[in-house]
Amino acid sequence: MIDFLKGLFFVRKCLVCSAVLPDAEKDTAFCPKCLLEYEKLGRTICKKCGKQEKDCACMPDSLKGKISFSAHLFAYESALSKTVIFALKRQNLSTLQNFLVSQLANRLFSYDLSDYTVTYAPRKPKSVREYGFDQAEILAQGIAKTLELPFEDIFSHAHFSKLQKELNAKERAENAEKSYKLRRDVIPETKGLLIVDDVMTTGSTMAALISLAKEAGYEKVAVVCVAKTVGWALPVPAKENFL
Ligand SMILES: [Zn+2]
Ligand SMILES: [Zn+2]
Repeated sequence: MIDFLKGLFFVRKCLVCSAVLPDAEKDTAFCPKCLLEYEKLGRTICKKCGKQEKDCACMPDSLKGKISFSAHLFAYESALSKTVIFALKRQNLSTLQNFLVSQLANRLFSYDLSDYTVTYAPRKPKSVREYGFDQAEILAQGIAKTLELPFEDIFSHAHFSKLQKELNAKERAENAEKSYKLRRDVIPETKGLLIVDDVMTTGSTMAALISLAKEAGYEKVAVVCVAKTVGWALPVPAKENFL
């Protein structure tokens, strides 16, 4: 009944072009035309492995040898991919969240996740206060529900350590952003942990979370994100050579 009333007062619009969506009952974020454009994102060729993004299993160098697998939907490159991620971070939009959950669940279908628990890379507390939600948490809960896997809140942001005093403002902000800790009551009930995030860039945050997961007793860790940055395809510059 509430959904019916909502349908009367809120016109659903395409996330990308703002066209009014024809079928108000259907859980969709895109008009048919933009959905076709969206599907092209997954068929774009990865510059590193030559596979389509939807089949690419590339990962940042910082994660190599540390995880069972890494999967993503598309590269954070085109205007459309940026529109999707921007909306995911800024708007608590269930149509987009549900859509991405089903895309991610499909992407994960080929992996054996029978001994995995699903968790997420927590958003900065400041951003959670600002926007009122954590998009990675919402996606992780959706994936767990869809794939019938257990969900656990494993990580939280650490409080400032004394060392923070010795850092300048910029360093403090960066340090805080990368400072995570395990929640006190983490007891692994599966051997594997699947960490969900929206965008993975250098993988340094993920590397920190993986260390914590291993510390907690998880034997294997896998990573799934909506988008990877194209920086992965480039070799890390060897600064030493230029000194
Ligand atoms: Zn559209
Ligand atoms: Zn690739």
